[in-house]
Amino acid sequence: MVDLRPRLAPLLIGLLLTGCAASGNVQDIQPGERPDLETDEAGLWMKMDRAEADMRSSGKVVRDSQLQAYLEGIVCELAPDYCQDIRVYLVRNPGFNASMSPNGAMVVWTGLLLRCENEAQLAFVLGHELAHYIQRHSLKRWRDLRATTSGMAFFQFATAITGFGLVGDLATLGALGGVMAFSRDHEREADRIGLRLAQGAGYSGAEAAKIWDYLQREKDAADDGDGFIFFASHPPSDERRDTLAELATATAGEGRRGAEAFRRLTAGHRLAWLRDELRLRDYARMEVLTAHLLEAGDAPGAVHFLRGELHRLRGEEGDDGKAVAAYYAALKTRQAPAETYRSLGLVLWSMEKPREAQSAFRHYLRRRPKADDRAMVEDYINQLN
Ligand SMILES: [Zn+2]
Repeated sequence: MVDLRPRLAPLLIGLLLTGCAASGNVQDIQPGERPDLETDEAGLWMKMDRAEADMRSSGKVVRDSQLQAYLEGIVCELAPDYCQDIRVYLVRNPGFNASMSPNGAMVVWTGLLLRCENEAQLAFVLGHELAHYIQRHSLKRWRDLRATTSGMAFFQFATAITGFGLVGDLATLGALGGVMAFSRDHEREADRIGLRLAQGAGYSGAEAAKIWDYLQREKDAADDGDGFIFFASHPPSDERRDTLAELATATAGEGRRGAEAFRRLTAGHRLAWLRDELRLRDYARMEVLTAHLLEAGDAPGAVHFLRGELHRLRGEEGDDGKAVAAYYAALKTRQAPAETYRSLGLVLWSMEKPREAQSAFRHYLRRRPKADDRAMVEDYINQLN
């Protein structure tokens, strides 16, 4: 993360000097509203504006104009009056996370899109984030903290909200998650409003509980539950999922799920986003994620391949056989990436099946005659003779 401290200091002093205000009387932000320049809220916005500019030039923002227009379209359907006030940034990062800055910058991680099964689930999460904006939750949290804690915690908070939009330093974001966390009441409120916005736009409310349920399963399986950035700032609970399910049943007609458009616009990215997840090396979590994606039936060639990769890289008892089965499942779909053959060759080699391994390597070179690693793979084939 960029070290923001030197730039922050003068602003912080300014903010510390502004009068203390209770968070109780904070009104919803109105469409088109910007805070008065002399307020503490204006200070928050200024910092977020800078963080946003840093993020825009960070190279992490996904350039896909169709997908970008799609995300912005959902936000505008959810909250038409606030459409002009919100900017959406899709950033290339594994893991489920979204954040909402008080100045209207909404950050959505690609790992979030990877885990949603359809547009309705995505719309609920975006609606939840919009609720934090409309209800001015960051400002309320800021004022509560200021009233109850020392200058140091205050400093941490300022760093956290400024850094929150930046991507790349997961450890720092995780450590700051606690400071950044919205209160349980804010979370409940955001769930309720997010659901109302999604249903108001015609989405099936039942999907809200489903995405929450899935995330809980993935978290339970994870090696390190604390690595869940979203949960660091959005504490999950069974109670929350149940409340969502109840709210959805109480208020829902059927509603649309928007599975087709969602799939069409995200399917081409799945292989790349799954590779990002694999780099986290949290194999148990990856197992839950790939099983989830296979159930949904999206891009099965890519998902089976990555499932094979997780077994190959983990290399525990029985993993070789599981890897081979997954690679064959990928190849059956006819959408498997060429690397499926190379990986298959490597595992078969380690299982001492030289002939099958050779055949897999040859298939790889036929599929990708100009592969960068051609010389190396030809060498493998010779060694296996
Ligand atoms: Zn939240």
